[in-house]
Amino acid sequence: MSQPLPPLPDTFDADLGLDLHMHSTASDGALSPQALTDACHAKGVTRFSLTDHDTVAGVAEAQRHAESLGMRCLAGSELSTLWRGIGIHVVALLPEGASGALVPGLEAQAQARVSRAQEIARRLEKIGLEDALARARAQAGSERPLGRPDFAKALVAAGVVPDMPTAFKKYLGAGKPGDVKTHWPYLSEVVEWIRDSQGIAVLAHPLRYRLTHRKRSQLLDSFREAGGEAAELISGHQNADVGRDLARQLEARDLMGSQGSDFHYPGGPLAPGVMSAPPRCSVTPVWRHPRLVTFAA
Ligand code: AMP
Ligand code: MN
Ligand code: MN
Ligand code: MN
Repeated sequence: MSQPLPPLPDTFDADLGLDLHMHSTASDGALSPQALTDACHAKGVTRFSLTDHDTVAGVAEAQRHAESLGMRCLAGSELSTLWRGIGIHVVALLPEGASGALVPGLEAQAQARVSRAQEIARRLEKIGLEDALARARAQAGSERPLGRPDFAKALVAAGVVPDMPTAFKKYLGAGKPGDVKTHWPYLSEVVEWIRDSQGIAVLAHPLRYRLTHRKRSQLLDSFREAGGEAAELISGHQNADVGRDLARQLEARDLMGSQGSDFHYPGGPLAPGVMSAPPRCSVTPVWRHPRLVTFAA
C-alpha cells in the first residue's frame, strides 16, 4: 500500500474514489476478485475493501491486482450475525488481515453455512424443490460456501418462480421458510473476533433491516457497547431524509461513518463506487481511524 494517491479528506465528500463494501465470486458476487478490481479501476475507485460474506478468500487476489494498478485494497469481510433474533451484518475492515480469534471465527462461519444450507434445502424440498442442495450447488458453480442467492437462482432455474426478487419475496426473504439464520453467532461475539484481529467493526447497511428509529438506536447502542466503532452512513442508494436521521444517530453515539456500494454484479443499479451522496453532518469518517492512516494517506 505504498502507491502515491491523493490523501482522503477529513469529511464525507462526493466522489472520493472510495468503496468499502463489495462482493466477488468468493461469496455471492458475479465478478472474480481480479475482475472486480478492474471494474473499480474503470470507475475511478482507487481505494476499496473486498468484503465477501463470511470469508477473506478473495482478498489476496484483489490486493495483488490492485497493487499492480496503483490502487489500494483493504482486506475485509461481511459477517453474518444475530441480534435479538434479527439477522445483522457486520463489515470487518482488516488493515492487518484476518488473525487471532477471527480465524477460527471465519472457519465456524463456513461450517455454519454448510449446515444452514442443508436446513434451507430441507425446507425448500418441503415446498417441492427436489434435490435443492445439489441444484443450489450447481448454481454456485464452485465449491464456495452457499448463500441464499444460490437457492434463489435454483428456484428460478426450476421454474418455481419467475425471478430472483420473487424467490426472496416468497421463499428466502426475512420471515420466509428459507430464511434460516439461527446458525449465526451473536453480534457481540463477532465484534470481539474482529477486534481480536486488530480490525474495525462496521455495522453494515443500518437502514436495510426495516427497523424503527428507536429500534435502530438500540441496535447502534448494542453495537457500540460490544466494541463496534463505525456504521455505514452510506450504503448504495438510500433515502436522503433517513440518511440524515442516521447521521444524527451516529453523531450522538460518536460512531464513525463508512461508505460502500454493496456491489454484487454488473448490469444493475449499482457499480463500484456508486452510492448516494453523503448527508451534511459531522460524523467522523472511518478512514480517519488510527489503524487506517496508511490506507487513507
Ligand atoms: P446469505 O448471506 O446467504 O444470508 O444471503 C444474503 C444475500 O442475499 C444478501 O447479501 C444479498 O446479496 C442477497 N439478497 C438478500 N435479499 C435479497 C433480495 N430481496 N433480492 C435479491 N437478493 C437478495
Ligand atoms: Mn450478498
Ligand atoms: Mn449485507
Ligand atoms: Mn454486502
